[in-house]
Amino acid sequence: MSRRILIKGGRVIGAASPTADVLVEGTLIRAIAPEIAADDVEIIDAHGMIVMPGFVDTHRHLWQTAIRGVAADWSLVEYIRNIRLGYATSYRPEDVYVSNYIGALEAIDAGITAVCDFCHIIRSPDHTRAAVDGLRDAGIRAHFYQGFYDIPEQTPVFADHDSRLDHARATWRDRFSTATSDLISMGVALTEFGLVPMDSTRAEVAVAREFGLPITMHMGTLSTPDGVSKLRQAGLLGPDMLHVHCNASSDEELRQIADSGGQVSITPETELQMGMGIPITNRALAAGLKPTFGIDIVSDCSGDMFAQMRLALQTARAIDNERILQTGKMPVSIDLTVRDAFDFATIHGAAAMGQQDKIGSLAPGKRADIVLLAMDGVHHMPPSLDPLATIVLQARPSDVRTVMIDGVIRKRDGKLMGVDLPALGQRALASSAHLARAFETAAARTASSPTATTYAGAVSNAT
Ligand SMILES: [Zn+2]
Repeated sequence: MSRRILIKGGRVIGAASPTADVLVEGTLIRAIAPEIAADDVEIIDAHGMIVMPGFVDTHRHLWQTAIRGVAADWSLVEYIRNIRLGYATSYRPEDVYVSNYIGALEAIDAGITAVCDFCHIIRSPDHTRAAVDGLRDAGIRAHFYQGFYDIPEQTPVFADHDSRLDHARATWRDRFSTATSDLISMGVALTEFGLVPMDSTRAEVAVAREFGLPITMHMGTLSTPDGVSKLRQAGLLGPDMLHVHCNASSDEELRQIADSGGQVSITPETELQMGMGIPITNRALAAGLKPTFGIDIVSDCSGDMFAQMRLALQTARAIDNERILQTGKMPVSIDLTVRDAFDFATIHGAAAMGQQDKIGSLAPGKRADIVLLAMDGVHHMPPSLDPLATIVLQARPSDVRTVMIDGVIRKRDGKLMGVDLPALGQRALASSAHLARAFETAAARTASSPTATTYAGAVSNAT
């Protein structure tokens, strides 16, 4: 019989009773009820805690974990110049592994159990292997979206765009098509529109659709404000697409995404900082889309979902309120709720991954991606009567006490399981030092790829 775990007496989000037990068997939630009696189970005491589904991060470049904080004061233009055309040129497979492994652990530590990893640091097949290994070793649920972006190289491993497409096919064939676990699945990350010819985009989309893989892309920023329209005109817009940012996309374009069955990811912290525009939460809802949230990059911002929920919710409220204030009146009520923000960060994210039947909420038959949130800190005295208010507006990553993914406990009583943190810290420091040293000379190498040249042109146009 599969291993059974009984989570006792927590405030279970989604349960009908004030407190409930959750029975996990193998990878699945078997039952949720006020009182479950079961033999041969491991008991986890959740009294005084919130029991919730894990957060789903729908857009993150985990490879940037090793350059944490370098972009703290950078605009998007500076980010592209210094990271996409700079730091990226010096990443070794070791740097990608360390980044993906630690970044995924950081996510788990903060209660994120599923992540869409937008991986555009594919300098060689070894980089791809390192990225997937990092995700696998951390034990996180993930979509690994392989990118095609041709990073400026002195001696490129990939001869041309076609060889990058072939490498994606090889990744699918060798690593994912026969995988026995569905914890990590593959997708495709498109290169920015307008910065590559439409034929290249068409070819990248074709690789994904050849194998039925999901597609994600940056949308409606920088030099591609009308990217949705361009995709639609090219006949490529589809339900398999997760559009990220969309700040410059028109309301009509957002409706086009909704009509196509596509999804959107909002990354509030980077969008607010980097000059991408106002997060589209309100406009997405008006267009019939279900907002989801992503962390994007810890090279500039925080790595947890609490910060993103708070920033997005209060920004969206400010936009609604301002509309009323501009008429000389005071808002008498607030439309967007903490329940909305919680759904965006959980079940909507699961839907964006095409996994709403599997994760994103707690219910019998769903996978056991479960987070226990402690409320014993002074900032919970007294605890809010509404657990969703606690999660969205009061809680901190340090409140995340226990995390289970696919029935496996990855964090227990506040400690990540099976991780040698001091040794990992040393590897992170070594990686960070290498990248910082290499960055000093990287700027001189940025003109050697067509995409880099176009990117550099876009940056100089913007400045
Ligand atoms: Zn991004």
